[in-house]
Amino acid sequence: MTPRRFPRRDFIRMLGAGAAATAAGTWAPGCGSSATGPTTDSGSPDRVLVIGAGAAGLVIGNALRAAGREALVLEARDRLGGRVWSRDVGGVPVDLGGMWISGSEGNPATCILNHEGIGWESAEPFGLDTKAYDAVLQREIPIEELAGVAVVLVEFEEQIPSLTRELGPRASMAEAINVYLDRSGLGEPARRYAELGLRTQVETDIAQQSELVPLLSFEASGSALPGGEHFPNGSYRGMVQALARGADMQLDTVVSRIEHTDDGVSVETSRGTYTGSHVVVTVPLGVLKAGAIEFSPALPTPKQVAIDRMAMAQLEKVVLRYDDAFWQTAGSGNLLYASQTQGEFPFFVDYTQYAGGAPTLLAFYCGDFGRAIASQTDEAIAARVGAIVEELAPRSGPAPTNAFVTRWKSDPYALGSYAYFTPDSAGAADARALGTPVGERLLFAGEATSVEYNGYVHGALLSGIRETERLLGTQGARLDSGLVVGLGCDEEA
Ligand SMILES: Cc1cc2nc3c(=O)[nH]c(=O)nc-3n(C[C@H](O)[C@H](O)[C@H](O)COP(=O)(O)OP(=O)(O)OC[C@H]3O[C@@H](n4cnc5c(N)ncnc54)[C@H](O)[C@@H]3O)c2cc1C
Repeated sequence: MTPRRFPRRDFIRMLGAGAAATAAGTWAPGCGSSATGPTTDSGSPDRVLVIGAGAAGLVIGNALRAAGREALVLEARDRLGGRVWSRDVGGVPVDLGGMWISGSEGNPATCILNHEGIGWESAEPFGLDTKAYDAVLQREIPIEELAGVAVVLVEFEEQIPSLTRELGPRASMAEAINVYLDRSGLGEPARRYAELGLRTQVETDIAQQSELVPLLSFEASGSALPGGEHFPNGSYRGMVQALARGADMQLDTVVSRIEHTDDGVSVETSRGTYTGSHVVVTVPLGVLKAGAIEFSPALPTPKQVAIDRMAMAQLEKVVLRYDDAFWQTAGSGNLLYASQTQGEFPFFVDYTQYAGGAPTLLAFYCGDFGRAIASQTDEAIAARVGAIVEELAPRSGPAPTNAFVTRWKSDPYALGSYAYFTPDSAGAADARALGTPVGERLLFAGEATSVEYNGYVHGALLSGIRETERLLGTQGARLDSGLVVGLGCDEEA
């Protein structure tokens, strides 16, 4: 899930191959109820209730409606998109959650963007022209030393199967990294750079401290699709708007209880009780783990065990808008930072070219470092990031004009960034158990239920398509635009 998530494979390539509507309320009214809609329910008994208006919930709501089936998406927030959140920062739409299209081939997101005439741009994050700075030695890391880290990343990935056999699948990534480095014979600072590279690769992909990531999780974590890394033109906003256009929705509606019987389903919310024939739960794993929704009858043991064993990682972003891209040099504007403090803002993505030339930087953080600074104010976090940019830049520049710090971990409707497999987890079997329906009427979708692509936007979309197929008994999901999406799409349909 590295760019996921931060593209893992790109990080390797980097150093390797050589080297809503999302903003509140902008969907077309008329398709959905407004946030001030009714508190009494008048839906038909055949209606499907979809809990959550993220990528998974929206695709279900859109496709069911396009198929002539009544469906209502109930969303707790006052905006659409969930963990796809395209928000203006200083006049520039920036994706604060899902950002990369991790593989354009077969990706329903790229199908939708193409169909809408939006498209995407290549966003391979790092190359050997990336500026990397060592805060310990207070010097730029020379390109040949950066290339050395590239070799380590590729070698380590190749050795994961043998390290798994040797240490066992529940051994942590940190243990594997240490064993690998001890055998590498690398001296300083090469070993420190190698460790930083390896940890950054793991921790920005899984969004968790290497000590807490089992080898199993790295292997089982969701996959990027083929076709390279991209950013949607103008953010993911266009995809969310396209899906929302065809869905009936009710915002500001917090679901607290779901009851399912042989006769139908009943959903208790902050705006009253809704009934229907089926319910599809797409809320994040973090919400299920917190027990924020009561199920009656209680969830069966295999599903509850999977919920308990999987966990939500934490990946956060800091967006800084400037008047001057003073950090840019001849190479790419992306930056790597080898801090004295482990995990401190290891990389920065220069978003300027995707922001129509408006100087914009994104810093990422996660793991122990994320937990350690969680109690700091947004201003303090943004100020520290700004100070690092000054440290890295070849010349001094102005203070940021705007900043935004995400708080996915404490967001009650996310409670983390995306799912990962803990040492206790059964890996893909747990994702499968999470996505298995309970009886005839209670279904589950969302990124954490995707066996192959968990943690990705395309994983969420494909999980929604899976449950749409289940409900309609068809292949693929035909959207209101006529596009049929699945793993791939049919533009002509
Ligand atoms: C910082 C970050 C970076 C990421 N980077 C990438 C990336 O680059 N590429 C990529 O492919 N993926 C990335 N992801 C992951 C991607 O964003 C998610 O996998 C995907 O958006 C999840 O979609 P979903 O529909 O499963 O869940 P969500 O989008 O979370 O949708 C669930 C919805 O349920 C709602 N909800 C929660 N509780 C309730 C309740 N009680 N009642 C009613 N509604 C409720 C929520 O508000 C939400 O709208 C990233 C995620 C984060 C957080």
